Amino acid sequence: MNRDQSEQPRASVQPQAVRRVVLPSGRTIEVVHFSDAQADDRVLCDCPACGSDLVQPLAWSQTADGRWNLLLECPNCRRSEAGTFTRTQVERLEDHLDDGLTAMITELQQLTQANLVAAVERFVRALEADQILPEDF
Ligand SMILES: [Zn+2]
Repeated sequence: MNRDQSEQPRASVQPQAVRRVVLPSGRTIEVVHFSDAQADDRVLCDCPACGSDLVQPLAWSQTADGRWNLLLECPNCRRSEAGTFTRTQVERLEDHLDDGLTAMITELQQLTQANLVAAVERFVRALEADQILPEDF
């Protein structure tokens, strides 16, 4: 099936301005500002530089008109940008972050259960081999 050109991924937008900011940790980041028109339909969790979907907000504040000023950073390539985004964009980012947190908690629960099962199996083998003595407690 041929795809219409409009369905192709968009080329990355050109930054409006770039400046360096020193964070309280002492780390210096490069902040890329985009115009509002360019930012309106972007999916904020997607990094335009490396394609990672792990972009996270570092700082945020609400504007008087209900939009959000965000400082975003990609943990994969360390690209940072600041911009003003719509409520819908921020809600989609929040949903994506919530999904990521749910996935991490699920993985943690599975890993914890697997570690517990392994510990119980080691304990049973030690009991069967008479390697556990009353002095051990
Ligand atoms: Zn990136």
